[in-house]
Amino acid sequence: MQANITRTVILALVVASSGWSAATAVHAQAASAAFTREAQAAVTPARALAMLKEGNQRFASGKSVARDFLAQVKQTSKGQFPFAAVVSCLDSRVPPAIVFDRGIGDLFVARVAGNFVNDDILGSLEYATKLAGAKLIVVMGHTECGAVKGACDAAQLGLLSATLANINPAVTAVKGNFTPRSSANGEFVQAVADMNVQLTMQKLRDRSVVLREMIDKGEIGLVGAMYDVSTGKVSFYE
Ligand SMILES: [Zn+2]
Repeated sequence: MQANITRTVILALVVASSGWSAATAVHAQAASAAFTREAQAAVTPARALAMLKEGNQRFASGKSVARDFLAQVKQTSKGQFPFAAVVSCLDSRVPPAIVFDRGIGDLFVARVAGNFVNDDILGSLEYATKLAGAKLIVVMGHTECGAVKGACDAAQLGLLSATLANINPAVTAVKGNFTPRSSANGEFVQAVADMNVQLTMQKLRDRSVVLREMIDKGEIGLVGAMYDVSTGKVSFYE
């Protein structure tokens, strides 16, 4: 108790001396607190999207919230109430929780090279939403994607060949005068990355009855996105 009182006093002094408004302090505290069952229940799909946009704006402008991750570990030890689920690439430059400036317990994340979905990932997303309460699914590709480039070149390597085959429908679906149609053509690579997000969203709807029904009822949202590895900014397809 003594420690808590001391922290409160110190926080008050910091707030007073730094010129922060009380509202700013409350907002900062709220943004760094782990999600609770009540907080998750109050989030709509639209609000979940807005929070991801706000988080990415903070991240891309160097204003990410300072979080006490160990405190969040304790807060979430008895249960998790994430507000969104993200399907993204394996790429080391695209860590969803960081680029959306979120903490422990905020986001479900499914990652696979080329951010496609199969039955295992769709089942995981059914769990994340229907059972665990997330309100939004984001399918997020990224610029300069090595998996997409590999698919564009029909790269062959062990089991990776079968993984990259999941991106082939996007390679085939991209029409237009792209010359060459290979990783040597940056515009073609990005067109395939964009198409891959669109086809992944379509496959999600077509393949998962559970997710489609929740989307159609407005219980959850589904949105595509593209992360720019050179700016840190996420663009949403809306
Ligand atoms: Zn990638």
